[in-house]
Amino acid sequence: MARYLESKCKLCRRDGERLYLKGARCHTVKCAVSKRTYPPGMHGMRRSRHSDYGLRLRETQKVKRLYGVSQRQFRNFFAEASRLPGNTGEMLLLLLERRLDNAVCKLGFASGRVEARQLIQHGHITVNGRKVDIVSYLVKPGMKIAASHRKVSQKIVRERLEARKADAVPTWLALDAGALSGGVVRMPAREDISLHVNESYIVEFCSR
Ligand code: SF4
Repeated sequence: MARYLESKCKLCRRDGERLYLKGARCHTVKCAVSKRTYPPGMHGMRRSRHSDYGLRLRETQKVKRLYGVSQRQFRNFFAEASRLPGNTGEMLLLLLERRLDNAVCKLGFASGRVEARQLIQHGHITVNGRKVDIVSYLVKPGMKIAASHRKVSQKIVRERLEARKADAVPTWLALDAGALSGGVVRMPAREDISLHVNESYIVEFCSR
């Protein structure tokens, strides 16, 4: 996946919303979105009006950035969501929500999705007792996500849980902080996703 090396905060400011791309800093008053409410760039303070196309593009970019997926991965998720019964936009968000990196982040095992991806890729996370290093792995009810038995994995996850103990865990997951593990209780629902996004715009954009 191509890496974005510029300021991540600019991405949040462009979308006017916290996308939690920087870990612990995102939960503090240092967050750039809370300090500067206008888009980045020389003309950022000017009021800009988006075209219909621009609005749909922005919504799509917002979701891609939040979940850290490339255009190709996003297309694949969209194709899979289109095949599922129900509202395609909602199905797309729910598939993305079920990614292992998102679940690890929501359980509080990492300070953000970027760190969650790193933990998974470095073998610190197990699913049902087996190491899984695929960040896009989709979790489902009955699965148990835990820190690996390695001392270093346990130390990292324990520290992150301590730092994020004030953060609420969504109800589709159940955290057992003492055991450094969490279970998937049910499939996530649209109400579990707090991001302000109009998924019908995404469907219209991707169906062009
Ligand atoms: Fe920067 Fe995180 Fe705030 Fe986004 S949410 S602006 S990445 S500190």
